[in-house]
Parts: sequence; C-alpha cells; structure tokens
Amino acid sequence: MCTTFGICGRQERQVSSRLPLVIVGNGGAAAEAVLALRASGYRGEIHLFSENNHAPYNPTLGPYFVGGTLELEKVFPFGNKTSFYQGNGVATHLGEKVIELDPSAQTLVTSQGRSFAFERVLVASGAQPTLPPVRGLREALAANAAGEAGGQGRRVFTLRSLADALALREAVEEVLAVPRPQPRAAVVGASLAGVKVADVFCELGFRVLLVERESQLLPLCAHPECASALEKHLLEQGYELYLGAFLEAVSTDESGRVALTFGPPQAATVNVDLVVICTGSRPNLDFLVPGSVETDVGILVDKHLRSTHPALYAAGDVAQGLNLLSGRREIIALWSSARYQGRVVGRNLAGRSSLYGGGIPHNITRVGKLVFASIGCMCDYDEIAVDKKGAAEEVRLYRERRLVGINLLNSCLEIGILKQAVLKLAAGLAKEMRVTWTTFGA
Ligand SMILES: Cc1cc2nc3c(=O)[nH]c(=O)nc-3n(C[C@H](O)[C@H](O)[C@H](O)COP(=O)(O)OP(=O)(O)OC[C@H]3O[C@@H](n4cnc5c(N)ncnc54)[C@H](O)[C@@H]3O)c2cc1C
Repeated sequence: MCTTFGICGRQERQVSSRLPLVIVGNGGAAAEAVLALRASGYRGEIHLFSENNHAPYNPTLGPYFVGGTLELEKVFPFGNKTSFYQGNGVATHLGEKVIELDPSAQTLVTSQGRSFAFERVLVASGAQPTLPPVRGLREALAANAAGEAGGQGRRVFTLRSLADALALREAVEEVLAVPRPQPRAAVVGASLAGVKVADVFCELGFRVLLVERESQLLPLCAHPECASALEKHLLEQGYELYLGAFLEAVSTDESGRVALTFGPPQAATVNVDLVVICTGSRPNLDFLVPGSVETDVGILVDKHLRSTHPALYAAGDVAQGLNLLSGRREIIALWSSARYQGRVVGRNLAGRSSLYGGGIPHNITRVGKLVFASIGCMCDYDEIAVDKKGAAEEVRLYRERRLVGINLLNSCLEIGILKQAVLKLAAGLAKEMRVTWTTFGA
C-alpha cells in the first residue's frame, strides 16, 4: 500500500485511490499556487519539494539586501518562517531537490534517493544563472561554493538564490573591512539585473566596471537611443564601461584579487576585488524525463498553464507562456508574472477553470541616478518617436502604427498607465494576429 505521503513503488501506486498533489520549487510561483489552491477550496494533500531550506524568497530583492538597504526578513514576502506552509497545510520537503520527474509514471525521485508518487504536479522550479564560456570562471565560482581558504576564494559570484545573496554580502563586508584605496568591483552582463547590482556597488563606494558583450547597455530592453543616454550618464558617475567586450579568462590570486582578461578591442587585464556574473538565466528543468513534456527553452504551456502532459503544469521562470506582443510562447521572467501564473495554476489544480491571459515584458530600475523603465518589445518595430525634455526622455516604438514598446528615462510616473496601454494594444494585436492558445490535450 502507498503511505499517506505517497512514497511507494510504481506498481503499488497504481492501487492507491488518490495521490497527493506535488509542487516542485519554493519561489513566488509556488507560494501563490499554494494560496490559490487553498482559497479555491482544495482540501487534498499538497507536498512541496525544494532544493533550499528556507521560506519562499524574492530574488528581485537580493541586490538590495547585498547593498544593506533592505533587511533580510524583507526578502521573504510570505514571512521568513516556513510556517507559511504549515499554515496552509502543505507538507514540505525542504532541502530535497527533485532530480528526476516522470509525469507519465507520476513519480519523482529526490536528491535523497526517495521515490514519490503524485497525481498531478506543478513545476515551479524557476531558473539558474547561465555562465558565459570564460576560462577559469567555473573554478572561481566553485571556490565560492567551497568557501576555500577562509573566505579568500570567495570573490566571484552569481546572484540568484538567497545563498548567493548571503555569500556576496559577506564578501562585500570582508572587502570593505580592509583599509585600501577605493575597492573595485566588476559586473559582467549589463542586463537589468546587472545594472542593479552595479548601482549597489556604486552606492557602497566601489569603483565599478560594467562589462557587456553587446555594443550597448541593456541590449534586451533599451533602444540604442536610450542606452547611449544611460551610458553617458554612467560614465559621468565614474563607472568604467567595457561594451562590445570579450571576457576571455578569470583568475584569482592568493590575496583574493580577481584578474579579468579581455580580448580585443580592450585587450587588457583588469584587477578587481569582486565580480558578479549577470549574463542571464536558464530554466531549471533538467530533472524532467526526456520527451515526457514538450519543451523549448522552458516548458511549453497552454492557456491553463498546463504542459503537453495533462498531469504536469508549469508556472514562473520555467514556463513558456504567451507573449502578447510577439504572439509566441516565451518566458517572461518577472516576479509579478511568476506570482500571477502561480495563482492561475493553483485555481486550475483546485478544479476551477482559470485562464492565463498572456503577458508582456516590463521593468523599472535605477541606472546610476536615473530611473529607467522599459515596456514591451524594443526590437521589432517600423516607426520610432523620441521626445526629450530636460533630463527626461521617452522613446516610443510602433509596429504597423501600433505602440509596441516604450523606454522612459526620468519620466516614469506614468509607467503604470503606459503599461496598461501597451498591454491592451498587445491583447488586441494578439487577437488580430489570430494568436490562439492551443489547449494541450483538449
Ligand atoms: C538579481 C535579480 C533581479 C531581478 N529583478 C527583477 C525585477 O526588477 N522585476 C521583476 O519582475 N523580476 C526581477 N527578477 C526576476 C524574478 O525574481 C523572477 O522572475 C521570479 O523570482 C521567478 O519566480 P519563480 O517562482 O518562477 O522562480 P524562483 O524564484 O527562482 O524559485 C524557484 C524555486 O525552485 C527551487 N528549485 C529549483 N530547482 C529545483 C529542484 N530540482 N527541486 C526542488 N526545488 C527546486 C529553487 O531553489 C527556488 O526556490 C530578478 C531576478 C534576479 C535574480
């Protein structure tokens, strides 16, 4: 017989009546799914597996915690205790990573070698940093993980998990504790996360080197017109910018300083005290049995956020749902989107019919002393309008006379209204483009 926890062999599982619902992951998507399940009257067993041991954490806030402007407890939007799960009747398996999941067999295997049977599963396992192919980088990051030489090796970081944020903050404190002329930090990847981290270092008093492989800042969300204004501003703030840069190698010396070696055009070696790699992320889905669900970059989902396998739903950074502007299934890696998708899946798993209406990329962040916002798509357009008023700038992009993307610089008060406008237009556009959601398995 299966135990009440659903741990059993495959044949035993088939004789059980109702198996638990499983959630893989412990972020915003997972937590919202739990709330929606219970709010929708779901009374069955829920088991949650997470590779980490803490309460659901908001990675968006990691840079502010590192910078000391946010207390640790503020990075846990659902409370910093796992009592959130107990309060919602969830059996947690924290520190137990899922290493294999087969939706057809309705079983998963964990890092502790346990096999677990389930009826349906929500995969909300988020994403992990991608690493550029740079000589010595993996070794430098592994030294962090091992905490080698009493912290001496802890100088190169990624910033995604809470563990990353805690380790980076410790390293920042170590570097700042040593009297020296201005310490120096490099951020590799001038992505939205990268410019945020760079800003944190700048505020902490570091001299900042911002490195980007493309020829401009924020290549995925800033129009070149806006990017060049931002670049000028950062140079005025004392940043060093390496754009179009090819980082060849990373090495750490005995004193803990890191040497970054660049190929042409910079063709230079730069020594810094800390390095953070912000070169993007990729979904955590290696544990899925190959071919068990359709995947592209992430797990392809339909309007109910169900995958091509009826027992498996996906939400958050691991799910590839509808981008209303492109009409394609794409990952929109946003905290608000992860929570929204988690709610939709929670309701669907509780037996209600809840639809995900699709989304558009949007973000607002500080770049140096400027506020920068981006809404929609900044690459696929046939007309551009640029308005400048003092330090404020607005770039609007149109495709077939429709607004498809906006950059705002220092004039972000209307971002909410503009986002709704682009969203509405995008929804209309999606309709006109006859973008229809497939319902897998319908
Ligand atoms: C530095 C940074 C800045 C950001 N800034 C913004 C911003 O300004 N605005 C914005 O909207 N978004 C921002 N984001 C993105 C946002 O944080 C994510 O889109 C959001 O957190 C995704 O939530 P999620 O629940 O899908 O995944 P996550 O928050 O990544 O949670 C996934 C969870 O699954 C667990 N897990 C992974 N694999 C397994 C496994 N095999 N078994 C068990 N558990 C597993 C992980 O440990 C983690 O707890 C930022 C992200 C970063 C890193």
